[in-house]
Amino acid sequence: MLDRERDVALQAVRLAASVTRWVQDGPSLGSVDKKDKSPVTVADLASQAVICRMLDEAFPGQPIVAEEDSTPLDKPEILAGVLAATDAVGAAMTEAELRRSIDRGGASGSPERFWTLDPIDGTKGFLRREQYAVSLALIEGGQVVLGVLGAPNLPPRSGLTGEGTLLWAVRGQGAHQSPMSADVVEPISVSTADAPDRARLVESVESGHSSHDHSTQIAQRLSITAPPVRLDSQAKYAVVARGEAELYLRLPTRAGYREKIWDHAGGVIVLEEAGGRITDIHGRALDFTHGRTLANNRGVIASNGRFHDQVVQTVAEFDFPD
Ligand code: AMP
Ligand code: MG
Repeated sequence: MLDRERDVALQAVRLAASVTRWVQDGPSLGSVDKKDKSPVTVADLASQAVICRMLDEAFPGQPIVAEEDSTPLDKPEILAGVLAATDAVGAAMTEAELRRSIDRGGASGSPERFWTLDPIDGTKGFLRREQYAVSLALIEGGQVVLGVLGAPNLPPRSGLTGEGTLLWAVRGQGAHQSPMSADVVEPISVSTADAPDRARLVESVESGHSSHDHSTQIAQRLSITAPPVRLDSQAKYAVVARGEAELYLRLPTRAGYREKIWDHAGGVIVLEEAGGRITDIHGRALDFTHGRTLANNRGVIASNGRFHDQVVQTVAEFDFPD
C-alpha cells in the first residue's frame, strides 16, 4: 500500500535536501522577510519547486498544501538564486515553470486526499546552519498516512556528523530511516524509558515558538533532571522516534497562534509508527481537517508513549494563552 507514493516522496525529499545543501554550501542563503516577518530563503523556494514538480508529474492534479508561494521571486536576486539552485541539482526550470510549481502548493480547504509540504521547516535553524527538515506528508480522510522527513544536518546516529538522515513512515508499516546519501534502511523505534524522571526533553530553540518558561516548570514538576535539548524543526519528532529523547513539548506562547499542518504532519506519522504518541496540550488528537492550520488544537505534546497521560495531566496544571 502506498508504495509508489512513498517512493516518489522519498525521491522528491532527497532531491530537495540536495538543493538545500547546495544553497547552504554557497556564498549566500538569499534570505528575505515575508509579510509575517518570518524569513524565507532561496533554498525554501527551490525545495518547494522541485518537490511540487515531482509530485505533479507523478500524481497530476493532487492537491498540495505547502508553506511558500512564488511572490518572493519578484525580487531579481531571489529568482536568480532559485534558478541557479534548481539547475545545479539537475532540475532546471524556467521562471514560469518555477512559479507554476511553487504555486501548486496553494491548495485550500481539506480535500479528501492531499499532500502537505514544509520545504524547509526550521528556516531559522537553516540560517544558523543547525537543524532543519524538509517535511512531506500525505493526508487521506483527515489521517496522515505517509510522511517523509529529510534532515540534512541530522546524523543517522547521535555522535556521527557530516551526513544527513532521511526518515519516513507509512501508516501500519512502521518507521524507517536511512543515511541521506545511501540506501541502508533500518527500522526505528522509540525508547522504552517508562518514567518521566529520566526523560530527555526536546523543544524549540526559538522561545517565540514554544514557551521555555513553562517547559522549565513542567519539567520540574515531572522530576525531569536533564536540561532540555533545543533544536529546530521536526528533527524533534525524529529524535523522539529513534529513541534519543522521550518528550517533545510545544507550548503556546501567544493567543491566536494556530499550529500549521506542515509543521507536524510528517513528524507525527514518523513518531506514531515508531511507537510514540502525539496529542495537543489538552490531550486531544491532532485534527488535520481544518485547512492549513490545526485550528482545533493548541500546542503539541509528543512522547515515546510510556507516560503521555501523566505529562498531559501535568501540563493541564498551567495556563496558556489561547
Ligand atoms: P521550530 O523549529 O520547532 O521552532 O518551529 C518552526 C516553525 O514554527 C515554523 O515553521 C513556523 O511555522 C512555526 N511558528 C511560527 N510562529 C510560531 C508560534 N508563535 N508558535 C508556534 N510555532 C510557530
Ligand atoms: Mg515550518
